[in-house]
Amino acid sequence: MNTRIITIDGPAGAGKTTVSKLLSQKLGCIYVDTGALYRGVAYEILNQKIKWENDDILEKFLKNLDLNFLMKETNLILMSSGRDITAYIRTPEISMLASSSSARPQVRAALLDIQRNIARTKDAVFEGRDMGTVVFPHASFKFFLYADLTVRAKRRFDEMKEVTKDLSNIQKDIETRDKNDSNRISAPLKPAKDAVKINSSFLTIEEVIEKMLGYIEKA
Ligand code: C5P
Repeated sequence: MNTRIITIDGPAGAGKTTVSKLLSQKLGCIYVDTGALYRGVAYEILNQKIKWENDDILEKFLKNLDLNFLMKETNLILMSSGRDITAYIRTPEISMLASSSSARPQVRAALLDIQRNIARTKDAVFEGRDMGTVVFPHASFKFFLYADLTVRAKRRFDEMKEVTKDLSNIQKDIETRDKNDSNRISAPLKPAKDAVKINSSFLTIEEVIEKMLGYIEKA
């Protein structure tokens, strides 16, 4: 790999997307929110009413899946078969279905090439759950961003204030997803051995970015 790849893994609500986006702007490269791909799978499962628990049905569905990213200014647009589905993938239902369907190895395998193909030609910050462990084991820099559960739930709550007033439900959903994502057999959420771990509980976004840039510029 001749491109410079930086990975940021961590649990839901740790600030990965905001941090990746800003860090990529500082570094003059693109960022890739790989959770959006898993959300795209979940969206299409619902949209096409796919019985994804059945192996044959799941495999046929994945063969026809056509997900890819477009960059519009600094925003990432998720396209599915030529249609912009970005606005539909952030619901609580899609979050939970993305978490359960992403445990299937077939789903992970189907998304692996999309992620690696982007990295072949472009410097990028990739964020997700298995970036440093599975998808880019030879990345130039690896970070694992985490924070206390209550802090993460409050951050999500602030983002979703227009949609829901229920903080305890948000916290429960995050906890369930953390458990699913950490305990699955296929590419579980965990820090890569060579990842720098950053606790963002008491840091601002700018402080997290400063820390990351400190590691990157020191090398
Ligand atoms: O990052 P985000 O919360 O949008 O991801 C949604 C779900 O997609 C996660 O809960 C996780 O189950 C799955 N995911 C994954 N591997 C990634 C990124 C996301 O399994 N690299």
